[in-house]
Amino acid sequence: MKIVITGGAGFIGSHLCEHFLNQGDEIICLDNLITGRMENIQLFLNHKNFKFTNHNVTEFIEVAGSVDAILHFASPASPKDYLEFPIQTLKVGSLGTHKALGLAKAKGAKFLLASTSEVYGDPKEHPQSESYWGNVNPVGPRGVYDEAKRFAEAMTMAYHRVHKLDTRIARIFNTYGPKMRVNDGRALPNFFTQAIKEEPLTVFGDGSQTRSFCYISDLVEGIARLLESGENNPVNLGNPSEITIREIAQKVIDLAGSRSKLKFVSLPQDDPKIRQPDITRAKKILGWEPRVDLQTGLQKTFEYFKK
Ligand code: UDP
Repeated sequence: MKIVITGGAGFIGSHLCEHFLNQGDEIICLDNLITGRMENIQLFLNHKNFKFTNHNVTEFIEVAGSVDAILHFASPASPKDYLEFPIQTLKVGSLGTHKALGLAKAKGAKFLLASTSEVYGDPKEHPQSESYWGNVNPVGPRGVYDEAKRFAEAMTMAYHRVHKLDTRIARIFNTYGPKMRVNDGRALPNFFTQAIKEEPLTVFGDGSQTRSFCYISDLVEGIARLLESGENNPVNLGNPSEITIREIAQKVIDLAGSRSKLKFVSLPQDDPKIRQPDITRAKKILGWEPRVDLQTGLQKTFEYFKK
């Protein structure tokens, strides 16, 4: 296959580039590098099946020849990033999705949208299944990401219904692993960096909020299976094992053998209190579920941050 990956130099995007290159596919990686990094794709630059173009996908996307699939992963995805780039986040989720869908339509290619558990907002249903419509504050600081992704889902379904495009929507829950940036601002990169430097780990609020962390290799496998499936409706991809932020901070300290302590700081506005994917549909439709347990995934991630 010839696959266009938008946001291909980002954390998840670059792992997808690697996965599909290893399968013998041809990759066109598009990224404007506002949160993506060249070092994530450095190893692929000389690969005969890999091409990188520095491009902002909110502008018209030009790709020569045929394309089999488009994976639309371009977007700031850490709360710190979308607070710093609110307008870019809204634009890539809306205009960028429109351009990527337009390319899929022009090429008759499959289209896969990287959506998010943030479409559920601060959820009033637990765990979150795909039938839940969510609880999002449109005008709060996270609204720029949540609403852009909700718009992106609506646009993707409209192209599916009107233009009969073969589309996929992956609702991705918290994912972690190598290639996350040290200054990414998300919980695990912060905690690893702080633990290694023996600085206090900044737990937001009292740390009783929960998340469910999926190791990157499991997520990549889920995305690949979703692309191969014929499923047009949204599918949750994530690891259902739920943990409080306080507990995972302590786990990072223990794993790093660090003398760091926890430091409780104020909770950001609209920070979801609970989050856990219901992956019944992914199990049934894709025959997929995560295989890497938290301890193993954290260990591998720790090795990466140490380097
Ligand atoms: N968090 C924290 N300390 C940090 C960074 C994040 O306690 O240094 C908390 C954050 O408030 C949230 C959870 O960890 O409740 C996960 O945050 P992250 O930014 O990783 O992603 P989110 O799931 O909120 O999109």
